[in-house]
Amino acid sequence: MKTALVTGAARGIGRSIAKILAADGFSVAVHYNSSVDAANETVTAINAAGGMASAFQADLTDENQVNALVKDVTDKLGPIHTLVCNAGIMYSQLLSFTKLEDWRKVMASNLDSAFLLTKALSRLMVRRKEGRIIYISSDAALLGDLMRCAYSASKSGLLGLARTAARELAPSGIAVNAITPGIIETDMTADIPETRKVKQLAAIPMGRFGSPEEVAGIVRFLASEDAGWITGQTISVDGGLCMR
Ligand code: NAP
Repeated sequence: MKTALVTGAARGIGRSIAKILAADGFSVAVHYNSSVDAANETVTAINAAGGMASAFQADLTDENQVNALVKDVTDKLGPIHTLVCNAGIMYSQLLSFTKLEDWRKVMASNLDSAFLLTKALSRLMVRRKEGRIIYISSDAALLGDLMRCAYSASKSGLLGLARTAARELAPSGIAVNAITPGIIETDMTADIPETRKVKQLAAIPMGRFGSPEEVAGIVRFLASEDAGWITGQTISVDGGLCMR
């Protein structure tokens, strides 16, 4: 049985990814930081559906905790085949009012975390000559969201990280890709003001927001045998918002 580590899997998009990978036969490490009850709910739901999952806690901005997480998951569930870097935070403020400490907080949660996890895991994957790494970026990486300079920059950073990791790891048979979701209905987007939502909906050719399951479906594909020759790509799941 292959093992998948999904970060930020207690709720939202990460929970759907954990569920869909478990349904595909992965033993899933449900990572969480502060949402312990929600993480346990994810694990219970997966186990009740006949899948295998366990919860693991770590603050991914801390290198020691990242390394301990990778070791703990590997010891308990076996070598990690698929890493899904989904954990992230949103921060909204005009660029000219964004404080350096807030910029750094967003970078640490969204970009440093993916770098640290990739660094910790890539050596193990190279040794085994197999693995998949999937970053959950955002349409903000492509468009540059209004009032979200740190968020947009962190998500663009993931695309650069994905391409370099893809080049460096390709000779070892490891595929690295990024997904850029548009607006997905989760806690993260629950408090977007109604007036902004109306404008955002108008810009989406398909005229609706997405669901966590629609992002999870692409992760399922990228983690599958069928996607073994796809690497260094950015795949948009956004109702046509960023079509090109
Ligand atoms: P969410 O419900 O807010 O979940 C984000 C998760 O990230 C939380 O479970 C949180 O864990 C985890 N996290 C944040 N900082 C962390 C840290 N320092 N260490 C460890 N875990 C941390 O968000 P979502 O909407 O499902 O989004 C998931 C991912 O998709 C994010 O990267 C987001 O940027 C991206 N995305 C979302 C949308 C959207 O419209 N929703 C669109 C494009 C991209 P705890 O709760 O356990 O603390």
